[in-house]
Amino acid sequence: MATLGNPKNTIEVLQKYGFNFQKRFGQNFLIDTHVLEKIIRSANVTKDDMVLEIGPGIGTMTQYLCENAREVVAVEIDKNLIPILENDTLSEYDNVTVINEDILKVDIKKLAEEKNNGKPIKVVANLPYYITTPIIMGLFESGVPIENITVMVQKEVADRMQTGPGSKDYGALSLAVQYYAEPYIVANVPANCFMPRPNVGSAVIRLTTHTTPTVDVKDKTLMFKIIRASFNQRRKTLLNGLNNSSELSISKEVIVQAIENINKPASVRGEALTLEEFAALTNEIIALTEE
Ligand code: SAM
Repeated sequence: MATLGNPKNTIEVLQKYGFNFQKRFGQNFLIDTHVLEKIIRSANVTKDDMVLEIGPGIGTMTQYLCENAREVVAVEIDKNLIPILENDTLSEYDNVTVINEDILKVDIKKLAEEKNNGKPIKVVANLPYYITTPIIMGLFESGVPIENITVMVQKEVADRMQTGPGSKDYGALSLAVQYYAEPYIVANVPANCFMPRPNVGSAVIRLTTHTTPTVDVKDKTLMFKIIRASFNQRRKTLLNGLNNSSELSISKEVIVQAIENINKPASVRGEALTLEEFAALTNEIIALTEE
């Protein structure tokens, strides 16, 4: 079985199986060994690790993971790829399990318990871009023990995950990701590293999960509702954003007082607040409504 990760061997496998790319599944396969090596290295995959791969495709990165990890679980939605993986590209490895399922429907917590005794797993993927946010947020919010997530995403999304106040890319995704993890952009990846070429830029980002939360917030769910409301109407003030939100029912007086209590002007916009300030605002709102 040939090593993949270059155009020649990838085309050979695709032709052998008469495989047709499915645009709806975000199929852009990696054909660059340098990028593959960089992903594995930055994820710091070792023989102690269980790695979850989302969307193995024809198994290009999966081969690298099998060589470097103790155990690999690869979840692929496209049933046409399963025979290629099982009978061909991964047939030599006995440390991989391929699951033909939509990743959004898989109980990853159960998988980590069964295959890694509930210890933190690593997630590595060249993600299907159309569901990047639900996948990342699903991983964080489902309480799966995770050490790090190293993924290829759309360049613009990587920027949004990593940035802070003052940037046009700053928003609810930045805050959600940074609440759970430390983001680091590992590399920008040009379109010619994929087959077929995507028509957007790509980047590899590593999200190293915080072992203890970096902010102290009394109600995480409320904080994220506040964050969403603040960015729903970007040009409005924080006060109007929170006051107009259908997700929240906080009186205008409480909002005004809470903003004052965190030492911000009444005209402040949500996009100017850091994660720590959103946490402080949430705690103030809780304290004021409890009074
Ligand atoms: N890992 C391969 C590589 O790097 O060459 C393929 C990456 S390709 C960008 C994304 C892969 O995710 C495709 O194989 C696609 O079929 C799969 N995929 C798309 N949606 C999925 C879903 N909801 N659950 C699991 N896999 C999915």
